[in-house]
Amino acid sequence: MAYSLTHELISSLDRLKSTNDTKENPEEDDVIKRLITPEWYYAKGFKIYFHSVENLFFNQTFKNTLDNTFNDYLINNEYDAFERTLSSWYVPYHYFPREKWGIHLRLDRLINTIKKLNKKSSSFKNKEDIIKASTMYFILHELFHYMVENCSTVLEIIKENPLLYKQYLVSVYETTFSTENCIEENLANTYLMREWKEYNFPRNILCELLSYYDTNYKNLLYYGEDKFSLDVRKLLSQILYSCSNPKIVEPIEGVMSRINPKNMKDHQIPLWFHYYPEIIS
Ligand SMILES: [Zn+2]
Repeated sequence: MAYSLTHELISSLDRLKSTNDTKENPEEDDVIKRLITPEWYYAKGFKIYFHSVENLFFNQTFKNTLDNTFNDYLINNEYDAFERTLSSWYVPYHYFPREKWGIHLRLDRLINTIKKLNKKSSSFKNKEDIIKASTMYFILHELFHYMVENCSTVLEIIKENPLLYKQYLVSVYETTFSTENCIEENLANTYLMREWKEYNFPRNILCELLSYYDTNYKNLLYYGEDKFSLDVRKLLSQILYSCSNPKIVEPIEGVMSRINPKNMKDHQIPLWFHYYPEIIS
């Protein structure tokens, strides 16, 4: 099997859990389910693996699905704010059963974005570029959540406490989620904006997509390297101390750059696509 840091982190986490006597609070298992609703959490979907943008666009299942479902969804002007509009989300491997681990995308929201950007085709090189930009709009934001989980696992191994990440999700992430104080959500959009540039997708398009919901989006344009690092530092300290305003902010942001999928190969992140919500009786 190919080397994958994430799989090694998961093995270490499992080892740590088996040797650690700490009791888990069942309530802590419900954060993502609560935020994205059980209807979407349990929705059926199919899974491929995300390694890189290039690789994704050679994936025949992905291409065929887009071709076969493109006309099933009518265009609408709803905006997409990732978890907030239940358009895309990340299910952490800290939750069991681990079969839903990965990045989740709703096909109707993805196809709607492609159709919206089709109307602005003069900003793009070709049709494939529109599909890439639409897909990466969701994936880049969710990749940041994946990076945060991997960083958390590193902290858990060092602190020998396998509960740090789940405690952070309950006590910090969930309580600030729909507010401007949610550092993880703000950083996920900042990460999206930084990486978007690397792919040479038009900046004005991303500003338009983000401007419908993120009142902070203009600040993201001016988010320098220093502020990004300082906010990552604060986020990792929130995880370390399970507290939204930690008294001590540790200089541990370097963990994040080691985790960046850009700096590594073989990440093999599960990428799920969903057609419809599950009917929950
Ligand atoms: Zn998010």
